[in-house]
Amino acid sequence: MSSALVIFSGGQDSTTCLFWALKHFDEVRALSFRYGQRHEIEVSLASDIAREAGVPWECMDISFVSQMISGCSLTDTSLQIEEDKPAGGPPSTFVPGRNMFFISIAAVYASQHGIHDLVTGVNQTDFSGYPDCRDSFVKSLNVTLNLALDDQFRIHTPLMWINKCQTWALADELGVLDTVRYKTLTCYNGIPGDGCGHCPACKLRRRGLDEYLKSRGESTV
Ligand code: ZN
Repeated sequence: MSSALVIFSGGQDSTTCLFWALKHFDEVRALSFRYGQRHEIEVSLASDIAREAGVPWECMDISFVSQMISGCSLTDTSLQIEEDKPAGGPPSTFVPGRNMFFISIAAVYASQHGIHDLVTGVNQTDFSGYPDCRDSFVKSLNVTLNLALDDQFRIHTPLMWINKCQTWALADELGVLDTVRYKTLTCYNGIPGDGCGHCPACKLRRRGLDEYLKSRGESTV
């Protein structure tokens, strides 16, 4: 019996990964994190999606992450989220160490449940400047976690080398295009589904969706 743990935020990418995991593993669990993010709705949407997918779900509180960083617009509501990526350096939405904490905590959690396969939606194709979304980081952490826990983890990154258009295509192939489109939250302004339309996350998501629907010969709405 194969089993996997999905690091699950309830956004487009990790939701696609959740259904990818359901296709490739007999048993799937999902783990979300409360890290001091702006929008509490993110956690409740993740819970809803997991419940509808019949996946056991848990949320870990790691809000200490937001207490030790400053200048991050995803955790500090007094800061504005810039509409475009700044030249040089990561954008203000970068949460330092976030994926390192997520994946490391997920590995400890997984080992306690006898799970060795971890799934994360990180991606370096539409690279937004987050260093811990890169393939080299994930591979390096995989080695470190194996050493740290004397285990043999496999960190799966189904979206690492595909763009947003291809991520929509994957969701469609998995039969969950509408679930991903209407029930997930990617928007930095906390608006589910198609979102606010003007934050960087919405623009990227929308561009990919338009491209994908066009490739199917459908107009976008
Ligand atoms: Zn938005």
